[in-house]
Amino acid sequence: MKHKVSSAAQIRSSFIDFFKSKGHEFIPSSPIVPINDQTLLFANAGMNQFKDIFLGLVSPEYRRAVNSQKCLRVSGKHNDLEEVGKDTYHHTFFEMLGNWSFDDYFKAEAIEWAWELLTKVWGIEPGRLWATVFAGDKADGLPKDEAAAKLWTKVTSISPDRVLAFSRKDNFWEMGDTGPCGPCSEIHIDLGPDMCDKKDVQGHSCAVNAGCGRFIELWNLVFIQYNRTENGKLLSLGAKYVDTGAGLERISAVLQNKGSNYDTDLFMPVIDRISYLTDHKYTSRLGNKTDNAFRVIADHIRTLVFAITDGVIPSNEGRGYVIRRILRRASRYARELGMHEPFIYKLVPIVVDVMGDAFGEVRQRADFVSTVIESEEASFGRTLDRGIEIFADAAEKAMQTAEKTISGEDAFQLYDTYGFPLDLTQLMANERGLKVDTVKFEELMEEQRQRARAAQKDVWLSGVINITSSLSANPTVIPATEDTLKHHVGQCAASVKGWFDEQDFKDNGEIPADSEVGLVLDRTCFYAEAGGQVGDSGIIESEYGKFVVMDTVKVANCVVHRGRVAEGSFRVGDKVTAIVSKDRDSIKKNHTATHLLQWALQDVLGKSVAQQGSFVGPDYLRFDFTYPKAPGPEELKEAERKVREKIAEDLPVKWVVIPKEQAQKLGAMALFGEKYGNEVRVVGIGAESENGISEAISREFCGGTHVDRLGSIGGFKIIKEESISAGVRRITALTGQGLAGYLEQRSDIVDQLSQMLKVPVEAVSNRVEQLLAENKRLTKELKVAGTSSGPDTMAEAQTLLQQCEKIDGAHVIVGQISNTPIERAREAVDMLKKKAKSAAIALGFADGDKVTLLTGVTDDLIKKGLKSGDIVKAIAPIVDGGGGGRPQMAQAGGKKPEKINDALAKAAEIIKEKLAE
Ligand code: ATP
Ligand code: MG
Repeated sequence: MKHKVSSAAQIRSSFIDFFKSKGHEFIPSSPIVPINDQTLLFANAGMNQFKDIFLGLVSPEYRRAVNSQKCLRVSGKHNDLEEVGKDTYHHTFFEMLGNWSFDDYFKAEAIEWAWELLTKVWGIEPGRLWATVFAGDKADGLPKDEAAAKLWTKVTSISPDRVLAFSRKDNFWEMGDTGPCGPCSEIHIDLGPDMCDKKDVQGHSCAVNAGCGRFIELWNLVFIQYNRTENGKLLSLGAKYVDTGAGLERISAVLQNKGSNYDTDLFMPVIDRISYLTDHKYTSRLGNKTDNAFRVIADHIRTLVFAITDGVIPSNEGRGYVIRRILRRASRYARELGMHEPFIYKLVPIVVDVMGDAFGEVRQRADFVSTVIESEEASFGRTLDRGIEIFADAAEKAMQTAEKTISGEDAFQLYDTYGFPLDLTQLMANERGLKVDTVKFEELMEEQRQRARAAQKDVWLSGVINITSSLSANPTVIPATEDTLKHHVGQCAASVKGWFDEQDFKDNGEIPADSEVGLVLDRTCFYAEAGGQVGDSGIIESEYGKFVVMDTVKVANCVVHRGRVAEGSFRVGDKVTAIVSKDRDSIKKNHTATHLLQWALQDVLGKSVAQQGSFVGPDYLRFDFTYPKAPGPEELKEAERKVREKIAEDLPVKWVVIPKEQAQKLGAMALFGEKYGNEVRVVGIGAESENGISEAISREFCGGTHVDRLGSIGGFKIIKEESISAGVRRITALTGQGLAGYLEQRSDIVDQLSQMLKVPVEAVSNRVEQLLAENKRLTKELKVAGTSSGPDTMAEAQTLLQQCEKIDGAHVIVGQISNTPIERAREAVDMLKKKAKSAAIALGFADGDKVTLLTGVTDDLIKKGLKSGDIVKAIAPIVDGGGGGRPQMAQAGGKKPEKINDALAKAAEIIKEKLAE
């Protein structure tokens, strides 16, 4: 079959060009990490970035849009992780080509154009294509989509028997549990009977949506008409939208006449590189272990590159944990290809080669991404081999059970101590025909989560989520707030529009005085939390009352002042004065200082420094940036000095709002993973006027508030530098009042020390040094004295050795010794092992009413199945205690000194029994 375009790059651009020719505007992909959407971990469809438009919260800049969206389907409602590698067409990361109508055209054009592109522009034979429509749903009270069914035969040349109706599961699209949704119409392709991978499944017959590899879905046309709310109800949206999604990888396979996405030019270069690095061959077979490992690794590395580029760092929670799981999964599969050392990071350049033209950000971040992956691989590698051993024990235990199931406790221990994600344990269990008790595992996880939650309860965040959900329940009534005043004044007149309570937005009546609410004004000078800068606090006053604002957040275009009525009363319509707290001054200083710090770090450490995150509050600032190693103390001092120098020069700070392209041309720094509109605000330090931004020493995309001149920052000091993850450093610093307070406190401490030590401040260091040296000397003396006066443990052990019984050359050294420090008892066991060469040892001693039991076994006897841990576990209960350890040495504590000899006798018995086997 000859198709009209073939390379993935051509397919991507021909899709975009086709829809541009139909009046669509190209909108770049949004980052993998959704901005301001707590309901979603990762972008899972092209429509995510348009969610607020569908909900009626913001109005679209264009009526028609086209794009290629970076998607991840590894969590939540859309999770394809388990499919990856096992089939040829599900990936964790993939590109979704899409076209949108925002209350413009509807079903007819969507269907007609999809057909035109597939069959005419790309030249796919119409006889291979099938279409599906929504069959209706009783529970949701929705009828069949007759309109779409009719349109298929009216506006395309498809044969009517190829238009099939399916239920909600296949033909009603939803992005998550809540949010915009609607009936959809899908286009599937018949790849021919050879592609069926379910030939041996009883009762299988190939058909659309029958789940085999012969019919696969290429393109989904969704007609967004509803919003699913928290309680599961569907609300009709005010307008009708078209939202389509076609997988670039699947289309590429079809147009390149390949049976598998992995055989296309999107994956083959990566697969070839894996082959080169591992010395294994890829043979493109499903169900083949080696080929499967190739596919999984090739898939996962793309996910890692894109997610880390957009700001996700492997960690133990949320997005970071999902990415850590993907990386560990890839590492595990790398072992199937014989790779025990870090190697996945070596695939970063090839992924960048394939994807860097379409997504420039991956090229810019390549070095950083490699560093992160390599160090994560290395640290997992260290625990993986040990974990595999623990898994083998757990699996052996599971074999003995009737249910052939690995216990939830074991799975949890593997997770908690050895970093084995549950799916990894499941995967390994699966390979041995075992199951995992996931119910118990989840129970243990939940307990752990609750402990973590109790430890850090983030009230603000939960408040924002509430507001978001009440927003989407009631999409059209939320007013936008005019808030450009935040950049100019700290006080303004406004009027009350309404407020959020726990459930809802209220737009009339009196605000309840007894609970926390989110107050909404028609306009405000309060800054809502964004770009790392905290939301403002302050006061909103009227003739009748006083409202205290603790924090300010933004939801869509609405600024929400979180706080409570402190005096009097407030009603919708009241005229008020909004007064931002004095904290704002400190926040401004810290924010401008953050920009200066980035500039200084790049100057001192080079261009690999890029902002990874920041926090700007009234008390301090924190700046996270990429850098492969710890900066030296001299380098930090140098950066600090540069910042202070600029503050002393009292340079002016100016900002402008300009088109994004112009800002990029000026070399303004943007944050990776951040989404910017067409117009951006650029803050320039050292620009004499708005027109002089190009002369500024530092230019950053930034919506935050800043000082007018650097002099008012009034001082700068780095108080901490640390690593927060591989390749990412964090600096905490102070300015202005915060710095003054800090210095005063430090100075008080030095004064106190000087008084206590009775020396002048200048001599404090010397005096402390002296004292430390003296202390060290005394401790040493004391230790020597202690050794000579205590019992001679070594001699006692020696005696036990001389008197011990021998079985086949193995020494059975068992006996009680005098009370002694545990270190010395351990040394004695080591000494006995060395002297005896082949020995099983059990020592016991009492300290008051505390008992210590210590066991040791030489390696030759461990091989015979005698393990220190087993012995100690068996005898500890006799002294009413417990313990454990390694096969080489183990230890237990107990509470019954009178039973020490019983316990030791039991130990001797166990050892002899084993040796007699
Ligand atoms: P499937 O049933 O094959 O899993 P889907 O119904 O989940 O597909 P949609 O949510 O409708 O897919 O997404 C739109 C398009 O994105 C699909 O038609 C397909 O071409 C592509 N797509 C979806 N999931 C994946 C994936 N995991 N990997 C690659 N492409 C995908
Ligand atoms: Mg799917």
